[in-house]
Amino acid sequence: MNIHEYQAKELLAKFGVAIPAGYAALSVDEAVEAAGKLPGPLYVVKSQIHAGGRGKGKFKELAADAKGGVRLSKTIDEVRANATDMLGNTLVTIQTGDAGKQVNRLYITDGADIAKEYYFSMVVDRKAGRVAMIVSTEGGMDIETVAHDTPESIQTITIDPAEGFQPHHGRAVAFALKLKGDLNKQAAKVAEQLYTAFMATDMEMLEINPLVETTDGKILVLDAKVSFDSNALYRHPDIFALRDETEEDPSEIEASKHDLAYIKLDGNIGCMVNGAGLAMATMDIIKLNGEFPANFLDVGGGANKEKVTSAFKLILSDPAVKGILVNIFGGIMQCDIIADGIVAAAKEVNLGVPLVVRLEGTNVEKGKEILANSGLPIVPADDLGDAARKIVAQVQKAA
Ligand code: GDP
Ligand code: MG
Repeated sequence: MNIHEYQAKELLAKFGVAIPAGYAALSVDEAVEAAGKLPGPLYVVKSQIHAGGRGKGKFKELAADAKGGVRLSKTIDEVRANATDMLGNTLVTIQTGDAGKQVNRLYITDGADIAKEYYFSMVVDRKAGRVAMIVSTEGGMDIETVAHDTPESIQTITIDPAEGFQPHHGRAVAFALKLKGDLNKQAAKVAEQLYTAFMATDMEMLEINPLVETTDGKILVLDAKVSFDSNALYRHPDIFALRDETEEDPSEIEASKHDLAYIKLDGNIGCMVNGAGLAMATMDIIKLNGEFPANFLDVGGGANKEKVTSAFKLILSDPAVKGILVNIFGGIMQCDIIADGIVAAAKEVNLGVPLVVRLEGTNVEKGKEILANSGLPIVPADDLGDAARKIVAQVQKAA
C-alpha cells in the first residue's frame, strides 16, 4: 500500500526525522491558509498523487509550457495561483502513464534553501534477507538515470535485521554521501531514524529523493515515497487508515471487495483461473501463443457461483477485453459446480465476447456436459495449450 508524501513525512517526523514544516490542503482556500501559517519567504506547492516525477510533470489541462506539479512560490498570491492551477487537474509524470492522475490534494511546505541534493532509499533485499540502504551523491533526479549515467555514484549498505542498525552503518551512509563534520553526523542520525521507521511500520520501500543539505547546514528530508507490506498492514491500523482509494485502480478495489486477487494488465484476453501459479502459467501460455493477458485473476480455491459471477463482471468491465479464457482445475472444487457458476454468470452478464473454458479434475465429465448443454457459445478445451490456442484464434478472428 502506498501513501502520499505529506502522510509519509508526518509519519517520519514521529521518528525524529527532520522535515520542512507543511500542511495538507484540499482546496485553494486551505492552501492559502496553510501558507499563512508558514514563515515564508519561500513556499512550495506540491501535488499529492501516488507517483513520482511530479516536478517535471505536465498538467493535461494547462498550456504545454506551464510549470509542473511541484512549484516554488514567493508570495501567498503565487501559492493561490499555483494551487488553482493544480487542484482538479490531471498531472502526467513519467510514473503515471499517459492517463495521468487527478490532483485532489496539495501539500504546502516551507521552502528550503538547498545547497545540495542527495538520494537515499531503502528496500527489503529478499535474496540477501537484509534491508538495503541505497544512497547517492546525485539526488533530485530519477535513480534509473543516475544508475545509467553515473553508476559509481550509487552505493548500497545492507543491514542484517537480526543485528539491527549499528553506528558503522550510519558512518557508511555519511561517507558514501561524502559528508563532513556536523553534516556527516546528521546524515548518520537520519539514516538510523529512517531505519527505525522502516522496521517499526513494516515498510517495503522508502525513497527520499532528494535528501538535502540546506545552505544553513541542515540535513532535511524534502520528498518521501513510502510503500508498506500489505501483508503486515493488520498490525498497523493507523497506517491502513491513510489509504487513499481514489489513487488505486477502481477494478482492483472492486476485486478486493469480492476477495478476488485481481491485477489489471494491458492485453486483450481476460483470464479467470483458480490458483495463483496456474494463473501465472495461463498468462504465460497466452503470451506464448501471440496475445497478451488483460489481467491476472485468481478466484481462489473456494470459488462459488457468486465469486465466479463477480469475476466475470470484473473482467468484462475492462473495454480492452476481446475474449475470456477460463482455466479451472477442480481439486477441492468440483468441476460441475464451477460449470454451473460459469453458465449462470455468462447468462447474467450477457457475454459478448468469445469464451473458452478448460476444466480439469473432480467431476470433469459432468462439468463439460453442463457447459455443452447450456446453449451458450462456450468453446471447450482439453488442456492448457489447447485452451490458449483456441482463445487466441477466436480473438484474432474477431479482430
Ligand atoms: P518529485 O518531482 O515528485 O520527485 O517531487 P520533489 O518533492 O522531489 O520535488 C522536485 C524538486 O523540486 C526537488 O528535487 C527540488 O529540486 C525542488 N524542490 C522541492 N522542494 C523544494 C524546496 O523546498 N526548496 C527548493 N529550493 N527546491 C525544492
Ligand atoms: Mg522527488
